[in-house]
Amino acid sequence: MNLSNLKFDALHLAIFFLLTTLSLSSQNKNEIGCATETSQKTLEFYNSIRSELKISEKNFMSKSASSKEAHDIQFEEIPIKAHIIRNSNGNSGLSTEELHQSINNLNETFKEAFIQFKVNDDINYIDDDGFCHFNKSNEKELTAYNYAKGYLNIYFVENLENQAENSICGYANISESANLIFVKNSCVTNGSTLPHEIGHLLSLIHTHGPNDNQTTELVDGSNCDTDGDGICDTPADPKLSSENLDNFCNYVGTETDANGDKYQPDTRNIMSYAYKGCRTQFTSEQSARMYAFYQYIKNSFINPNEEDVSEETFASLKLYPNPVTGGLLSVYIPTAGTSVHYKISNLYGQLFSEGVLDNTKQIDVNNLSSGAYMLTLSNEKTKVVKKFIK
Ligand SMILES: [Zn+2]
Repeated sequence: MNLSNLKFDALHLAIFFLLTTLSLSSQNKNEIGCATETSQKTLEFYNSIRSELKISEKNFMSKSASSKEAHDIQFEEIPIKAHIIRNSNGNSGLSTEELHQSINNLNETFKEAFIQFKVNDDINYIDDDGFCHFNKSNEKELTAYNYAKGYLNIYFVENLENQAENSICGYANISESANLIFVKNSCVTNGSTLPHEIGHLLSLIHTHGPNDNQTTELVDGSNCDTDGDGICDTPADPKLSSENLDNFCNYVGTETDANGDKYQPDTRNIMSYAYKGCRTQFTSEQSARMYAFYQYIKNSFINPNEEDVSEETFASLKLYPNPVTGGLLSVYIPTAGTSVHYKISNLYGQLFSEGVLDNTKQIDVNNLSSGAYMLTLSNEKTKVVKKFIK
């Protein structure tokens, strides 16, 4: 390389750093982090299923760490319904290129969680000036007529603000298991707002703990299971902001925990409040938690057309005895009609047995060890997932 090339490269490098610095520091200045609220009720629910999730998470982690055993984990696909809000004359709004770019990014980001996303081709365009500048308090007004059951509903708006009228990048409504996410258009392709909000939907909490409170998680990890985000491979986080981050995503704060230990937070974590451009990854335990939790809410992602049929055919479907005693699980289906296929998997998707229900409508579960399982029953048109305990 001659000297003039070297100078040219040095100039490029300088420009690159300058642009990176500018783009990082311009983020978050006018926006508060995220407006998802994790209520006390939601936290209590997470606690009530924690021990069961832990078993699934452990299995997921050991399998996903082994390239051979990772094949046993089934990829989950979450269907997305995109609602694009435009002004009343149909101009503006998120472009389909930006939409697909963001979905590709999601699929890349959630690969290690074995979760993928597929956007429905039929995009719902809402041409209404009234919703272009969208306040969180207008949520019910918008979703009442614009909601697709069985999907993760994502609403893309030009401007988004919380009730206090602060501009926000996004939020997930996790209070009613309605699967709703709202994102401001300019944040859609930043690579981390959508993954962050979907992380909330899949039960993840900010790495600094629920909502905006100061964390009680200790740096030494001794209460990592219960405090902060309740996940142990994310270090205690004093809440990241422009006050304690430099423009290269380094933590430069001096905060200490109750023991006087200095924090060493993960500034790359998607569930943190680091600059949006810094946030690139979930940890293994976060991935395992999301996958395990998805098994709990999977039923709400069954295609509504399938569900309509299920109301007829599988309407009064019952599993008994549940918990299973004696090694046989009986399925009560009044009008089975065509043959019904069954699959038994655990909460992290590992398949144990499958077959076709015979006339006895009993499934031999002698070979299953104690634990929680999912039974998927399907015929050509219908699919129902039920949980049982052995
Ligand atoms: Zn958040």
